[in-house]
Formats: sequence, C-alpha cells, structure tokens
Amino acid sequence: MLTDSHAHLNDERLMPQAAEIVARLGEYGVGRVVCASYDAKSSVDAAALADKYREVFATVAFHPHESKSYTDGDAKLFCRLAKNKKVLAIGETGLDYYYDLSERSVQRRVFAEHIELADALGLPVVVHIRDAYEDAIAILTANRAKLNNGVLIHNFSGSVETMRALDELGCYYSFGGTITFKNNKKGAEALLAADKSKILLETDCPYLTPEPHRGKLNFPYYVKHVAERCAEILDIDFDALCALTEKNVESLFKRLNGGAGAANG
Ligand SMILES: [Zn+2]
Ligand SMILES: [Zn+2]
Repeated sequence: MLTDSHAHLNDERLMPQAAEIVARLGEYGVGRVVCASYDAKSSVDAAALADKYREVFATVAFHPHESKSYTDGDAKLFCRLAKNKKVLAIGETGLDYYYDLSERSVQRRVFAEHIELADALGLPVVVHIRDAYEDAIAILTANRAKLNNGVLIHNFSGSVETMRALDELGCYYSFGGTITFKNNKKGAEALLAADKSKILLETDCPYLTPEPHRGKLNFPYYVKHVAERCAEILDIDFDALCALTEKNVESLFKRLNGGAGAANG
C-alpha cells in the first residue's frame, strides 16, 4: 500500500471529482491520501473530505502565498478543526520567496505562528519552502523547542547540504513528481542522501505531475509513479519502498492509525 502524503484534493479542479478519484486509488495500490490545505476555505474542505472518505486525511494551514490574509480567527478555526482526529498536522505553511505573493516579513511571522499552533495542538508541521531555505532553517531553528511533534519538508527541492542542516531538526522529507524527471539529478542526489527512515512520498496534485503524465493534471494515485522512480533511484524493490515509506508516514503522522494523537507514541 502507498500513502500520498501531500495532495490538494480540495483544489477546485479535483474536489468536484473527489468521489471518482477516491474510487480509483485501489487500482494503483494507494490506500491513503493526506489532503493539504492553503487557506481557511481549503482547510474546512479538507476536513470535510476526510469526514466523507475513509481513505482521506487532512492538514490545515495557510500557505505562504496566502499568509497576508491570515488572522487570529483562522487560528481559532484550526483549533476547532483539529478536534477531528483525521486532521493530522498543521500545513502547508512556510516561505515562498519565488512568487513572493505575501510580503516576506508577513510570511515569516505567519510561519512562526503556525509552528506555535502546531506545538500547542501536539501536531506535526508540514512545511513548504521555495527559494527560502536559509530563512526557513533560521525560523525552524529558533523554534526548535516547539518541533517535538515532527516536521515534514514537503516536495524537498534543496541540496544535500541543506538537508544536513534540516536533519539537525529531525525533519522528514517528501519526494514528489519532479523526482520522476530524468534530468532531476539534484532530486536523486537528495533522495540517496536522505536517512531512509525520513523518506515520504507525495504528489502535490493537481501540480507537479510525474512522468509519464507530465504536462497533464495530477492525481493522488500517481504517487505510484513517484514510488516506482524512488525505488529505482534507491535500488530497492518496489514492495520494500512501499513498506519503508508506509512505516515512515505513520511514524510522522501519529493520528494516521486512528490513535489519540501525540500521546499514542
Ligand atoms: Zn507546497
Ligand atoms: Zn502543496
């Protein structure tokens, strides 16, 4: 079985076909999808999808693109949503200096507030970083005492050196569609350098579609293509890769097994 640890099933292109998408997961050997949020509405939608479908779980947060509109009311909303045990983490939050859709100082403040909220709720944090590794590592390091529930750097795109700095904070790394691109040498190097117990798989659908569907819409079940490529790069068989990543995703997202949250070990 496989888990897509980061999918935007709440995206307006995917949500209307959620029932069909969930129905096709089994064909690809995908058992679970973690629906990641980016603002208040998508967080409410993710929690609703998790309620509706056994295979779907949720994370709630404001993406750095949207951080300019984050308010205290949204933090209260997330506390309410997190009472649902299928809400696994706070995410995706972080820094995106590539698009700069929110002012950088605002992105940094909201990222730190999300880390604080995750800590208060006893949940892991799912982090998006683009062209901002230095500042993101500085914020994570400054908040180190609040990271005891785990950190996932989603769609890791940094260097091995950056990964080593993040290793100090106990981070997990998820690899997505870009790892299937034959010219992505940096991604393959990072995957090979990663601690095997910290590797997760994702699609980030509807974005970042893996080969052989590159250029078209992405779906959670395409995580199988990501898994196949990762197994190839790591030179382990597919079943071993599945077993490894399933164990890792459960070790990060403690609520995945229907447990009572962080207290569950
Ligand atoms: Zn992201
Ligand atoms: Zn995402």
